[in-house]
Amino acid sequence: LNKWNDIPLAPPDKILGISEAYVKDSNSNKINLGVGAYRDNDGKPIIFPSVKQAERILLELEVEKEYTGITGNKNYQSVVKNFVFNNSDKDINGKQLIESGRIVTAQTISGTGSLRVIADFLNRFYTSKKILVPKPTWANHVAVFKDAGLDPEYYNYYDTTQNDLEFDSLKSSLLSQPDGSIVLLHACCHNPTGMDLSSAQQDEVLDLIQQKNFYPLIDMAYQGFASGDPYEDIAFIRKLNKAVVDGQIPSYALCQSFAKNMGLYGERTGSISIITESAEKSVAIESQLKKLIRPIYSSPPIHGSKIVETIFNEKYNLLSSWLGDLNAVVGRLNTVRGELYKNLDKSNYNWDHLLKQRGMFVFTGLTSEQVIKLRTDYSVYATEDGRFSISGINDKNVQYLADAINKVIK
Ligand code: PLP
Repeated sequence: LNKWNDIPLAPPDKILGISEAYVKDSNSNKINLGVGAYRDNDGKPIIFPSVKQAERILLELEVEKEYTGITGNKNYQSVVKNFVFNNSDKDINGKQLIESGRIVTAQTISGTGSLRVIADFLNRFYTSKKILVPKPTWANHVAVFKDAGLDPEYYNYYDTTQNDLEFDSLKSSLLSQPDGSIVLLHACCHNPTGMDLSSAQQDEVLDLIQQKNFYPLIDMAYQGFASGDPYEDIAFIRKLNKAVVDGQIPSYALCQSFAKNMGLYGERTGSISIITESAEKSVAIESQLKKLIRPIYSSPPIHGSKIVETIFNEKYNLLSSWLGDLNAVVGRLNTVRGELYKNLDKSNYNWDHLLKQRGMFVFTGLTSEQVIKLRTDYSVYATEDGRFSISGINDKNVQYLADAINKVIK
């Protein structure tokens, strides 16, 4: 009966803790910059109009709620494959990989589920447990990998004293790691820094991956948030596909999510794709993914994946509306990013990094003391690493926020 008496209290989730404190705050000027989900100019969450339209179609046409397959259904897998690997004439390599049966795609429980499935898979079948992650990275990366039995270790990525990438140090820290390690890279809109590798730097990292025989694992949670166009944001994926087709690397894996770029957060809709060495290996890998997923959650949820399938179904003509919806979301984030920059006091502080960063966040470079001062004195809520989720900013509060920051950095 007393079995549970010794269980220690687990620490609360940092971001959810911030939201709770925000809700309790009675200051009418309060701002929540913690949560990584989109808000419109009125501070409200939205449903993309294209998604709402897809739901109307589903409501009309759906006649069953049967289970989908363990790795989702064939149409969803094919839609995702074509979206990520074969959507323009720039994608000859991706197209070739699909046509030769070298991509195994499984629907997963959004991006987190995808990361967990691939982590379990690597733990079961890959030679090394060591997974190299950028410093800093999304906190849940480390938690997911540790819980799956992998051994995460940081490589240098961002210099907080310069508010910039530290590319030389990134390379030397990767070079010092054991050959054959797994290396996690963010496809675009690096969370939390918003700072991505340039095209030339991506090439150098690919050379290094080849040299060290690293296994690349790519996390793509923000496809579309860098440029506003999801087909522009996959340059690194295209390079990886070319490297595979040219025989420079044998394989890689990609975790992908529709949470942000379709606003399907709670629908938990994403995928894992494993690029394999041959069609025969794909068959074995797919069978092992099924064996792995079945005893965990049996099969993924269907509402979100049906929305995705409907949006990509030519019959309904929704693709261009969705691309427009996504572009509008990213446009608003870029507008408020620019507005914040404009209103910040630059006399003693360089804010130029704000304009180099992309995606849902600005990595301000503020110290934890300054972030805490913002919270206690101005009811501005953000994580103590100085990451601000820009979607909490709008044209009504941007001046208040900038004034608060200007006072805190004085
Ligand atoms: N990867 C990164 C870098 C993220 O920031 C997130 C969400 O914030 C995810 C993955 C996973 O998101 P989800 O599980 O909601 O798709």
